[in-house]
Amino acid sequence: MSLKGKIVFITGASAGIGAATAMAFAGEGARLLLAARRAGKLAEVASKALEYGAQAVHSIDLDVRSRHAVQRAIDELPPAWAEIDILVNNAGLSRGMEKLYTGRIEDWEEMIDTNIKGLLYVARAVVPGMVVRERGHVVTLGSMAGEIVYPNGAVYCATKAAARAINDGLREDVLGTPVRVTSVDPGLVETDFSLVRFHGDAGKAAKVYKGITPLTGEDIADVILWAVTRPEHVNIARVSLTSVNQANTLLIHREP
Ligand code: NAP
Repeated sequence: MSLKGKIVFITGASAGIGAATAMAFAGEGARLLLAARRAGKLAEVASKALEYGAQAVHSIDLDVRSRHAVQRAIDELPPAWAEIDILVNNAGLSRGMEKLYTGRIEDWEEMIDTNIKGLLYVARAVVPGMVVRERGHVVTLGSMAGEIVYPNGAVYCATKAAARAINDGLREDVLGTPVRVTSVDPGLVETDFSLVRFHGDAGKAAKVYKGITPLTGEDIADVILWAVTRPEHVNIARVSLTSVNQANTLLIHREP
């Protein structure tokens, strides 16, 4: 399946997996709708995507936690950009790593508002058009954390368990249409994820990847690209992947 000229909407495109996914689709000549809050970073990704071969790029300054902003962003797309073919519902974050009974409630709310409500708002705004046009593919960034809870991460894991349920529910609800729904569920990927989790503490973030060869954003982008280029009758429901140093969220082999 050629992606040339297809409109691909990537949330959380300013960094990490989203930015790597933008480059992967750019290399296929897609048209990219890129969204995130940090306009400066998004502009850098946009110009790099054009260098990588994107047919065109349209950037949207968007906080997915605002349902009105999400709906407005989709409603006000220029006509040439309105018919989204592929949604990569990727924007997300973890905040804090603490026992449930001592965790910061502000952190919980930020994760729930972004990873669950933001995910829903974006899907709710984009999928109706896909159903009407009888074409489309939604890729949700889940996580291995949605499968097995790890200590001090209950709320993040809960948001990813919710993402899994949302993805599965969406696949059921579009049954009877040609719209495809895929969840990509990675283990440890080295991005800004841990820096964000630890509120900018680079030392703590580096420890997460110490002694292992983690997945990269490019590894995840590769899987996303593979999932969306299967023949049209094939729906990849879920891809779960880890670095070879990780068996699951609880079992990680670290070299000394
Ligand atoms: P990252 O490098 O920190 O990138 C996160 C992206 O999400 C950024 O572009 C950020 O952009 C965006 N974002 C965060 N909050 C947002 C909001 N309210 N509105 C709009 N955009 C927002 O982390 P990443 O590893 O690429 O994470 C991407 C996705 O993969 C997340 O859903 C994460 O849960 C999932 N994931 C990551 C890992 C991992 O180990 N890294 C593993 C499994 C799953 P702005 O800050 O500019 O808005």
